[in-house]
Amino acid sequence: MDACILEAPDIVLVGSGIMSATLAVMLKRLDPRLRIQMVEITSELAQEASNGWNNAGTGHAALCELSYTPERDSSGKVPITRALHIFEQFEHSKQFWGSATAAGVVGDPADFIHAVAHICFVTGRQDVDFLHARHAAMKEHHFFRGMTHTTDPSVIQQWMPLVMEGREPGPVAATTGAGTEVNFGLLARRLCGWLAQQEHCGIAAGWKVTRLQRGAGEWHLTMQCQATGETRSQRAKFVFVGAGGGSLPLLQSTGLAEVAGLGAFPVGGQWLVCDEPSVCSRHNAKVYGVADPAAPHVGTPHLDQRRLDGRCQLLFGPFASWTTRFLKQTGRWSDLPLSVRVSNLTTLLRAGVHNHSLVRYLVTQGLQSMEARMKSVRHYYPKARTADWRLEQAGIRVQTIKKADRGAVYFGTEVFSSSDRSVAALLGASPGASVSVNIALEVIKTCLPHLLGSAESQARMRQMIPTFDHDLKQASNAALFEKTSREAMERLHLQPNT
Ligand SMILES: Cc1cc2nc3c(=O)[nH]c(=O)nc-3n(C[C@H](O)[C@H](O)[C@H](O)COP(=O)(O)OP(=O)(O)OC[C@H]3O[C@@H](n4cnc5c(N)ncnc54)[C@H](O)[C@@H]3O)c2cc1C
Repeated sequence: MDACILEAPDIVLVGSGIMSATLAVMLKRLDPRLRIQMVEITSELAQEASNGWNNAGTGHAALCELSYTPERDSSGKVPITRALHIFEQFEHSKQFWGSATAAGVVGDPADFIHAVAHICFVTGRQDVDFLHARHAAMKEHHFFRGMTHTTDPSVIQQWMPLVMEGREPGPVAATTGAGTEVNFGLLARRLCGWLAQQEHCGIAAGWKVTRLQRGAGEWHLTMQCQATGETRSQRAKFVFVGAGGGSLPLLQSTGLAEVAGLGAFPVGGQWLVCDEPSVCSRHNAKVYGVADPAAPHVGTPHLDQRRLDGRCQLLFGPFASWTTRFLKQTGRWSDLPLSVRVSNLTTLLRAGVHNHSLVRYLVTQGLQSMEARMKSVRHYYPKARTADWRLEQAGIRVQTIKKADRGAVYFGTEVFSSSDRSVAALLGASPGASVSVNIALEVIKTCLPHLLGSAESQARMRQMIPTFDHDLKQASNAALFEKTSREAMERLHLQPNT
């Protein structure tokens, strides 16, 4: 066999995006004896949703995203449970990346993460009042103590001049917190690079896993070389399907009863990108606003500073679009029709009926003219010039449709595992890469608990995620949070930017 295709791996991970890369490294650091195989269809690694240009690179910590705090409850308070959960998950990510940096796994962190202000910006009396109530609820908790709120246009002007220049007078409000920007694609490639150097580990790039079949106490994988068409098979006791949009077709090939009824709903994405240095140098923030009421789940628009390919850009979007492909690089228009089975036909038909207005929205969004798109940009950056912006395709989010949800599209992220825990997969797309460390931890706890069964293995996990077995949300753990957060920031060379 090739050096990159192992004889009898313990674990096979399909895909080289941030999910498989994180899980693979966590597993190998937990038990260095493990034989780990990764299989990636493209010849370059992490080119799908995790690639820097295909996602927004926001380290989701609920600082600026209104979607993590729903409407006020009957007492007029804004519930923050979900925001606390996301924040804690992102703390785990920073701890893991910090420990990987200290262990020499990922190189210089400045290449893949940097500090950037996470600003939530709203206009109009109703949203201004809501933001005030949101901040009042959040600042009580030790996670959000550093968050600042203002309704003073001159202060907002200092935080983000492009957003305020040329703006019509009226009520405005903003909060700012110390957030991050992450190049998840580069990070995934660094993690994979370390994995490839470890004993008993191999990465088969340019190979597609075409089928997963159950054997006696193990899984049989069929793989095809994309360059030559050669076919190979491999066996493993545990398989993680981290294939992003390619996960559902592979799960369907297993014949597992748990998969019957699952369907997929792909949502394409587009950005407007500005490379003009005189503009980019004046915006040092990620500015999130209010989601479009016509499609609240397909993404809140935001105006972001990005740092990709060693340069500085501004990104606005995402604009959602209609697609039937599951993968941007290797997907085909036939992906959606070919995912239809007798077992999920009813689910898909229900989804069609339930979501016809969403589909219409996606089609019209995708076909918008440049001037219509610029109108959306100018809501955030009133003086934006059309000539400074270009349209780029973003990644595809493949959302899950489950039988039990009776046609509703699920917009979160969920770990799927078979009833015998021998195969796991990630379904859904949001909040995604930011919580990849927690997803890896969840897969290990659910499917491979023996790897965490000894005091020694728990100590190893504590080296990677110091608070993996603590609840940082509790007031009694505020000091522990301060300490571990500071350590992770130092290891990642992050200086607060607010
Ligand atoms: C427009 C957009 C904006 C986003 N913004 C953010 C953000 O700001 N912050 C955030 O945290 N998350 C964001 N996300 C979500 C995030 O990008 C994803 O959740 C994350 O990258 C998913 O990682 P993954 O490893 O599961 O999938 P991917 O990165 O898609 O990796 C899957 C890999 O599997 C490979 N593959 C597929 N099928 C096969 C097969 N049969 N055989 C072998 N290999 C296969 C693919 O080629 C690919 O490399 C965004 C996503 C989109 C689309």
